[in-house]
Amino acid sequence: MTPTILVVEDEPDLRALVVHNVEASGMASLSCSTGSEALALAARHKPDLILLDLMLPDLLGGEVCRRLRADPVLAQTPIIMLTARTAEVDRVQGFEAGADDYISKPFSTRELILRVRAVLRRRQQAVAPETTRLTAGGIEIDAARHQVHIDGAEVKLTALEFRLLSTLLERRGRVQTRQMLLEDVWGVSPDLHTRTVDTHVKRLREHLGPAGDAIETVRGVGYCFRAPQEG
Ligand code: CA
Repeated sequence: MTPTILVVEDEPDLRALVVHNVEASGMASLSCSTGSEALALAARHKPDLILLDLMLPDLLGGEVCRRLRADPVLAQTPIIMLTARTAEVDRVQGFEAGADDYISKPFSTRELILRVRAVLRRRQQAVAPETTRLTAGGIEIDAARHQVHIDGAEVKLTALEFRLLSTLLERRGRVQTRQMLLEDVWGVSPDLHTRTVDTHVKRLREHLGPAGDAIETVRGVGYCFRAPQEG
């Protein structure tokens, strides 16, 4: 099925350029210039992915992102934030608002389309029926349903925390460097400051409670899931 991409950008030339490239790549597009239109279009059309400008005339992109994540129907929609602001704090805030990826302006349209494809592919893999249950250290991941249980109780995680936990569990016993995690979980090249990984691991541990102790910090390197595999 042709994926539909919602392009939210208030700068008309840039919006037209992104829409043109999305369509030239064989995908369908919807577009608008404000955050409130974005929320309305997303609710009506349920796009496969949203390209979301950070600085919009009405709402900030981060706020649009948070509202989408709070909507049970749209919570899982992949979001790539577009921004002219390159400060580290903006990038981290983008991820904390629940964005799947982040791209700084000016960007090449080729890179943008590659990122869109990568996020769509990851999302498809996440919902593929062959990916099933993974259990270790009292934590059970149901990849098909995007659910995590600890001792039978469901733990609510963001899409990003879910991918982070799945990646650590799949590779349990093996040390994952922050750079590896940035590439495989965030899908970005490791130019993004590695502290982003630390922030999200900290939050993931908080969500997991005592079970989160299985995620061990390997000083100066990264993280490792150490719990023994269970039957
Ligand atoms: Ca803007």
